[in-house]
Amino acid sequence: MDGGRVLGAPAAVLDGRSRGSVLLRRVLAGTPAGESPLTHAELVPAREGVTQGWPDWVPEDVRAPFLARGIARPWSHQAAAADRAHVGEHVVVATGTASGKSLAYQLPVLTRLNADPRATALYLSPTKALGADQLRTVAELRVDGVRAASYDGDTPLPERDWVRQHANWVFTNPDMLHRGILPRHGRWTTFLRRLRYVVIDECHTYRGLFGSHVALLMRRLRRVCARYGAHPTFVLASATVSEPAVSASVLTGLDVAEVTDDGSPRGARAVALWEPPLLEEVTGENGAPVRRSAGAETARMLADLVVEGARSLAFVRSRRGAELTALGARRVLAEIDEELASQVAAYRAGYLPEERRALEQALLSGSLRGVATTNALELGVDIAGLDAVVVAGFPGTRASFWQQAGRAGRSGDDALVVLVARDDPLDTYLVHHPEAMLGAPLERCVLDPTNPYVLAPHLACAASEIPLTREDVASLGGDAALAVVDDLVAEGLLRRRRGGWFWSHPTDRPHAGVDIRGSGGEQVVLVESDTGRMLGTVDPGTAPATVHPGAVHLHQGESYVVDSLDLDDGLAHLHAEDPEWTTQARTVIDITVIETERCAPHGDLQVCLGSVEVSEQVVGYLRKLPSGRVLDSTPLDMPERSLRTRAVWYTLTEDALLRAGLEPSRWPGALHAAEHAAIGLLPLVATCDRWDIGGVSTALHPDTGRPTVFVHDGHPGGAGFADRGHEALREWLTATRAAIADCECPSGCPSCVQSPKCGNGNDPLDKAGAVVVLDVVLTRLAEG
Ligand SMILES: [Zn+2]
Ligand SMILES: [Zn+2]
Repeated sequence: MDGGRVLGAPAAVLDGRSRGSVLLRRVLAGTPAGESPLTHAELVPAREGVTQGWPDWVPEDVRAPFLARGIARPWSHQAAAADRAHVGEHVVVATGTASGKSLAYQLPVLTRLNADPRATALYLSPTKALGADQLRTVAELRVDGVRAASYDGDTPLPERDWVRQHANWVFTNPDMLHRGILPRHGRWTTFLRRLRYVVIDECHTYRGLFGSHVALLMRRLRRVCARYGAHPTFVLASATVSEPAVSASVLTGLDVAEVTDDGSPRGARAVALWEPPLLEEVTGENGAPVRRSAGAETARMLADLVVEGARSLAFVRSRRGAELTALGARRVLAEIDEELASQVAAYRAGYLPEERRALEQALLSGSLRGVATTNALELGVDIAGLDAVVVAGFPGTRASFWQQAGRAGRSGDDALVVLVARDDPLDTYLVHHPEAMLGAPLERCVLDPTNPYVLAPHLACAASEIPLTREDVASLGGDAALAVVDDLVAEGLLRRRRGGWFWSHPTDRPHAGVDIRGSGGEQVVLVESDTGRMLGTVDPGTAPATVHPGAVHLHQGESYVVDSLDLDDGLAHLHAEDPEWTTQARTVIDITVIETERCAPHGDLQVCLGSVEVSEQVVGYLRKLPSGRVLDSTPLDMPERSLRTRAVWYTLTEDALLRAGLEPSRWPGALHAAEHAAIGLLPLVATCDRWDIGGVSTALHPDTGRPTVFVHDGHPGGAGFADRGHEALREWLTATRAAIADCECPSGCPSCVQSPKCGNGNDPLDKAGAVVVLDVVLTRLAEG
């Protein structure tokens, strides 16, 4: 939870008289007889706000507009972070949703710009929508001497000159900094020389590969600033994560202090964890039981909440899911009252400010009571103080979950928050382990700026911005960077001269070829066959498995079927179609250990970390119905793809498995099931998606000579996920074991050991055997 908590027995919550308790009773009353989906409920009590006086360095000019907007005094965390930034300390403020993190950077920046007409500041946000909202807020404050303006891909060319020459607070994003500002830093000399603050908003979104790119971008920015004699102070805002200062320091390359004591007030919330029951008649892949879908369960809850007059928001994973959920709720309500049905809508459209404002208004006025939406609403929409939020499926990170939950009860009223588990091991674990949701966060925002595949393009960009000295190379990436620079010289991209390394092609800058949101390599472009319209791109590494001919591909919530894939040209043709089945690629995977960096023996267990080469070939695909039933299997002839990346792995001796009672015939299924669940649970300790990682398990691996389970990063060079898994191995595998054991299915299902991306059609899998394997591993870890 963002802050303190009080444990309450479900009874105390269920019998309570608060709004949240009443709504929870209502939702429970709608549950079919004989079902008990509620796994936990607790009342998170209201918290009084803790204010502090205005710091005495904040002048009247800056204070007055805040006072006029009803902000009498800052919350304690705002003042604490602002104080540090004011004296030039780099600081990250990591507090709950809607705790007013903006004020923490607005105070020092506005004060500085107000006092010093020559000072400048830079604001970076991961999305344009958020940046636009923040800019509007600052502009409305009308502080004397502050000229704030946006500079992004949408800024008209004539305006760009004005911004460069006159604005003293520029709002932009990492993409524009990379492509538009740093390569032309000569035109920004005045602005950069006077740069006093860099604000990085929502910095927890810079994780994984994208985070690694942004980390190098920040080092490039600092180097160019230093060239002009500027050493700006970094102020970062983050959602609640584990050790925010550690991540912020990796992101910026600076020593960053953290402020995490949230002084903002919060209404009471009843938090309920919900696991839909296993269905009796329906079976899925390999005869496994399946649960009622989180979407169906959520639709029913949304209807109940609307009947109760509660203004409610349901977060659903896909756009189509959001529409189905709204439709399902309307159908239930129509049987009661058509008028009620009209109060439910799906929020589908993108980020047009007018649409967002209209939705906010409708919810505020009560003309809409129930809205089903995707994560589109997560950032940059000002909807707060709702009576209930239902989250259908854990959104991947705790930060996202609380961001969504934070829409409820913000204005001091109490409210209901429900997490409905999807068929997924992480969801299973969370609804059975409330402390993981409500206790101190375990998940660390992970990134790895030493990845040579990320370093190389940024070193090239940096050299073309200003020739690199040896000190530059060291500060951009240490020893790893020196090796990469040698490679770039060998490739003819850099030239070594006295005084450093120079970019070899002065007329042709490398920036445009570097996609900081991509994963390296040419992206595969998705084109709609009939219209020729470009839909987007997919990663070349995952293309064979996700956009092979015949694949059903979801793109921004819309369903398409792939007609053809040409990997040489990087082109896939698709047409809009929404068949009743989904597809799952079948692959043959091989993994080779390239270098073992660490290997710790724990008796007959070994835990290792290092670099590996994964070769993967898609050999066909299955068509599956939503129930999991397989319609047929189609062979495919796709090229083999190889991936050099990082992995964490453990091995056990054959003896250890035999002594634990596992016959050799069960080893493949046991290790495979343990591998699947481990991949599903890694996001508990690292902010990653299960699609960012992969795994291989085998009863006898040629490199280790033993039964082995590998979990590897999914991108070339890795993004820190395997390293984080290695570091937090015990917490990670303890949770993995619990997720498997907690699932009440008899022999494995999607909620525990089956994986939606398994290349082997989830066969063989031995659920009980996986628990035995993990017990041996955890016992050895505890002993050692
Ligand atoms: Zn299960
Ligand atoms: Zn598998």
